[in-house]
Amino acid sequence: MIVNLPDLAAMDAFGARIARQMIAGDVIALSGDLGAGKTTLARAILVGLGFQGEVPSPTFTIVETYDPPAVRLPVVHADFYRLEDPGEAEEIGLDDYRHGAAMIAEWPDHAGGFAHEDACLSIHIEIADEARKAVVEPGADWLTRLP
Ligand code: ADP
Ligand code: MG
Repeated sequence: MIVNLPDLAAMDAFGARIARQMIAGDVIALSGDLGAGKTTLARAILVGLGFQGEVPSPTFTIVETYDPPAVRLPVVHADFYRLEDPGEAEEIGLDDYRHGAAMIAEWPDHAGGFAHEDACLSIHIEIADEARKAVVEPGADWLTRLP
């Protein structure tokens, strides 16, 4: 599925649509070049889940957590860019972070990838001049609840 994202308003609307479908255990895997809009979409999803505060890019912390009542369900926002090998995801305790939570993951490949998980919604954001285009590949669990 391809979603055209001509501007930030479209990004916000797409994030809201994803948020409406999200449940614990999900992974929203966001790939694309630096500046493609992964963090922008992550913010839009968090807003859709009810979050009203600042959403820092987890580039340095790797993981930021968001918990109810600020969000509808616990969410882990991760940016795996800085991992040097996928084993480090285990070392930072990713499984514990993910327990009972949904995850929004930037640079998923740096953590070994999540597309093999049925609960993974893979979104690749491509830059098209001033606009963006998302290539969406749903895991089995997402086929019946496409955003
Ligand atoms: P990434 O996390 O992929 O490195 P960011 O979300 O930090 O990228 O930055 C993306 C940049 O592109 C921001 O300056 C943002 O305003 C802009 N942007 C995001 N989505 C769109 C869009 N749909 N159309 C135009 N510009 C966008
Ligand atoms: Mg980012």
